Amino acid sequence: MLKKILIANRGEIAVRVMRTCREMGIATVAVYSDVDRDAFHVRYADEAYSIGGQTAAESYLNQDRIIEVITRSGADGVHPGYGFYSENADFARAVTAMGVAWIGPPPEAIEDMGDKISARKAAARGDVESVPGTTKPVQNAQEVIEFGEAYGWPITIKAAYGGGGRGMKVVNAPDEAAEALESAGREALAYFGRSEAYLEKYLTSPRHIEIQIMADTHGNVVWLGERDCSVQRRHQKLIEESPAADLSEETRTAMGEAAVKVAKATGYVNAGTIEMLYQDGEFYFLEMNTRLQVEHCVTELVTSLDLVAEQIRIASGLPLSFTQDEIVRTGHAIECRINAENSAKGFLPSPGTIHDLHIPSGPGVRWDGGYERGDTVSQYYDNLVGKLIVWAPDRDRARLRMLRALSEFEIDGLHTTIPAQKLVLEHPEFAANQHSTRWLEEKVDLSGLTSSAGSSAPADGDSSLMARDVPVEVDGRLFAVKVWLPEAPVAGVSAKKSSKPKPAAAGSGGAGGNGTITAPMQGTIVKVLVEVGQEVAAGDSLLVLEAMKMENHINAEQSGKIKELRVEAGKTVSAGDILIIIE
Ligand code: ADP
Repeated sequence: MLKKILIANRGEIAVRVMRTCREMGIATVAVYSDVDRDAFHVRYADEAYSIGGQTAAESYLNQDRIIEVITRSGADGVHPGYGFYSENADFARAVTAMGVAWIGPPPEAIEDMGDKISARKAAARGDVESVPGTTKPVQNAQEVIEFGEAYGWPITIKAAYGGGGRGMKVVNAPDEAAEALESAGREALAYFGRSEAYLEKYLTSPRHIEIQIMADTHGNVVWLGERDCSVQRRHQKLIEESPAADLSEETRTAMGEAAVKVAKATGYVNAGTIEMLYQDGEFYFLEMNTRLQVEHCVTELVTSLDLVAEQIRIASGLPLSFTQDEIVRTGHAIECRINAENSAKGFLPSPGTIHDLHIPSGPGVRWDGGYERGDTVSQYYDNLVGKLIVWAPDRDRARLRMLRALSEFEIDGLHTTIPAQKLVLEHPEFAANQHSTRWLEEKVDLSGLTSSAGSSAPADGDSSLMARDVPVEVDGRLFAVKVWLPEAPVAGVSAKKSSKPKPAAAGSGGAGGNGTITAPMQGTIVKVLVEVGQEVAAGDSLLVLEAMKMENHINAEQSGKIKELRVEAGKTVSAGDILIIIE
């Protein structure tokens, strides 16, 4: 068994891995950037080493520094978590070459599944059908149009090296093809260094169902169960559950067996996930994630297994501690990814310091957090604050339990996805399991949400007000009175009255009026979509601002002519900076 594991990651997943290590009597080594000197994962680790830098590229992705720390710390295993190095075959090779165990799949399997085109080919080798589409890089917009005409719109352009919803663009009609192709390529190049893209039919109301598999070095490959991750925004998961409701035992088993075939076709070892889309009783291979996933916890709760412990066993050369027949799934688990995002404002990233934090507890509740009170969720990294996971005997009780837990959750200092998650869990269509991957964005009315976690909207729906509970005693009985106060400038994401759309009559001419477009948050301008003198309509995209690994489109709030452009691509801006003036 391994004795000392370096976790080449940060945040909740680093802490998650360390917790299992501690239970197994394995020493843990953290690495940290300059920003993370006092981060939770650093405080939790037995030893911690600086790798310097601020941005992910300067710090957690600085391979040379991490390799140095592996040597210096004497770690005999490296766990990559998810993101960063988890799907980096070169890093896996470099670690293995040092005689250190890589707690993940063989580099060849990472490569096979590393790009979506070769993944589709690997699935075909395992005799598993992918979403209808191409396996060649697309060259120009004309090809996109031809594919759409042949397969029917909508279709999707997907960056072969994309991930996490980035580098993927839906095209609804021929005239969107050129801009979508460019945007998919640009995003993919910026994030993943490669811009190749291919085409897929875009399913309009699929469920995202994925199968957890595990394989050891003794030839055992098992599937542990499925997760339904259909509640998404921007093609990113927000709520996950296991089992997928209404899936027949027959289909579940067919999906599990298909997943095992895909894993075997690529010589897979360790934990992996086969993602599929499920629509009208049919399932299609989407991609394989060659790592532990964010949502692995729901599988842990229904199977009572510790996937990290199993990963470590496998990397130590031991066989899986269970067989396919011994896997027993009971009850229902739901996970909410608590992200630092403002649900009331289109899930705008909301970095900041956590001034106060109350974590729910009680029966069936688990919290996998990356931060504690006083910690800062930095703009440089992923905005996942932590994951709240509940277990109950059936789906409806799990749903109610999650609502109860969310009602206990209090966080002060930044916005979170909690208001949206509550709305989803209370929604009759979610309760009746009638949602699909586009449901949240297309069917759920998020406009009434307020910025503060856990509050319903005030009557006028003014999202620049924040709800606060104030205790009031009346005749010896305590009441919590909700008061809507002007929103405090939270983490640089302040609700500017001036940026709210005004009635059409406002026209031009108002000094410093609503034609002044300011940065809603700190970030980098990746693209300017307009020029001085250009006429724009309300709602048109003006700029693309990137922050916390997300591209945010900044739109015109009124129609008019671009009078002044104060930024260019590549420029870093702070919240409140004036970007564009429209007259
Ligand atoms: P990523 O690697 O960016 O996560 P995926 O291929 O896994 O990309 O897709 C992410 C999500 O996008 C899926 O869960 C699903 O909601 C949606 N999606 C991807 N491909 C399609 C498709 N062909 N049709 C409909 N939805 C899709």
